[in-house]
Amino acid sequence: MDEEMPETMPEDGRATTRIDDASRPARPDFDLSARNTLKLPATARYGAFVSDAGQIAALDGFARREGLPFVVIGGGSNVVLYPRIEAVVAVLATKGRSVVRQADGSALVTAQAGEDWPDFVQWTVGQGFGGLENLAGIPGTVGAAPVQNIGAYGVELADRFHSLTAYDRVEGRFVDFERSDCRFRYRQSVFKDEPGRFVITEVRLWLPADWQPVLGYAGLDSLSKTADPATVMARVLALRGSKLPDWRILGNAGSFFHNPVVSAELAQSIDGAPRYPQPDGTVKLSAGWLIERCGLKGYRVGDAGVFENHALVIVNHGNATAHDVEGLARTVKSAVREAFAVTLQQEPLEVR
Ligand SMILES: Cc1cc2nc3c(=O)[nH]c(=O)nc-3n(C[C@H](O)[C@H](O)[C@H](O)COP(=O)(O)OP(=O)(O)OC[C@H]3O[C@@H](n4cnc5c(N)ncnc54)[C@H](O)[C@@H]3O)c2cc1C
Repeated sequence: MDEEMPETMPEDGRATTRIDDASRPARPDFDLSARNTLKLPATARYGAFVSDAGQIAALDGFARREGLPFVVIGGGSNVVLYPRIEAVVAVLATKGRSVVRQADGSALVTAQAGEDWPDFVQWTVGQGFGGLENLAGIPGTVGAAPVQNIGAYGVELADRFHSLTAYDRVEGRFVDFERSDCRFRYRQSVFKDEPGRFVITEVRLWLPADWQPVLGYAGLDSLSKTADPATVMARVLALRGSKLPDWRILGNAGSFFHNPVVSAELAQSIDGAPRYPQPDGTVKLSAGWLIERCGLKGYRVGDAGVFENHALVIVNHGNATAHDVEGLARTVKSAVREAFAVTLQQEPLEVR
C-alpha cells in the first residue's frame, strides 16, 4: 500500500511524522484522499503520520486542547472519509516485525501496528510458517486487524491471536490485552465496543507447530490435504482476485454490510435465501444475496455504485464523495428492510 501514501512518506516506506512544534504535533489541512481505499476526497482539520508509538499521547493531548475528536486510521480500507473531517487524525505508520521460534516448533510473531497486513502475511508464509495464509490479501494494517477481528476463508484473527499492546486514552497509559480481554466475535471486539478508547500499537500472533491447512471453504476444498501454507495462500489470493475489485483500480472498502443474523422464523420466511444456522438458534443470512434480490446490482448514486459482480461491495466509479456513498447505503438499507424486514449494518466506520 506504500505507493498510495502521500509524499510525506519517504521512498523506503518508513514513516516520519512532521512535527511543526511541540505544542502542535500535527499538520493542519491534512490530506487523506490517498489514504483510503474508497478513494474518497478527504481533508482532516489536523493530522499526522505516527512513526513512534510515543507520539500518540502528544497527539491525543493536542486533540483535547483543541476540543477536537481524536481518530486513528491505518490503511483506510474500512472507513468512509467525509470531505472535511473536524478531528485530529493519527495515521498509524509504525514499522517493525519479528519472529521467535519456540522449542516446540511454534512461532510467536510480533508486528507494529503500521505494518501492512498483506505484506506481513506473505512474510510469515515466506519463512515457512503456516497459520495466516487464509487471511492473505486483506488490505490494511496489522493494528486494525484485531478491531474487527478480520476473517476470511474459514479463519479469523482470533484463531491465531496471542496478545497486543494498546494506548488507553482514558487511563493515559499503555496496556496489554490477552485474547480473552479482546471479546472477539464475528467482526467485533472490545475495540469496537469502546470506539476511540484504545490505540493498538503492537500485535502478537501465535503460529502453531502442528499446523494443518483450513480447506473447508468453497474454492479451497479442491486442494490436497497436504498442501503447504504457500500453496493455500496462492489459492486464497487467486480467489480474492476473482471476486473482489482491486481497490487500486476501482475504489472500494470490501464488504460494505455485515451479514445479518436474524431469528430462524424470519430467515424461513425469505424464499430461497442461503441460510447459515448459528449455535444459538439464530440464522446468518447473506447480505449480498438480499441486496442482489432487490435488483440493486449496478445501482448508482452519483459515482458511488453497487458493484456489478458482487452486491456486497460499494465502489467508487471515479468522483464519488462520502455523501454519495451515504445516499447509496441508505437506499440499499431501506430496500432490504422493505423487501425482507431485515436491517443491514454498515461495516466501514464513518469519519467526519
Ligand atoms: C478489497 C477489500 C477486501 C476486504 N476483505 C476483507 C476480508 O476478507 N475480511 C475482513 O475482515 N475485512 C476485509 N476488508 C476490510 C479491511 O481490510 C479490514 O477491516 C482491515 O483490518 C482494515 O485495516 P485498515 O488499516 O485499513 O483500517 P482503517 O480502515 O484505517 O480503520 C478501520 C477501523 O479500525 C480503527 N483502527 C485502525 N487502526 C487502529 C489502531 N492501530 N488502533 C485502534 N484502532 C484502529 C479505525 O479507527 C477504524 O475504526 C476488506 C477491505 C477491502 C478494501
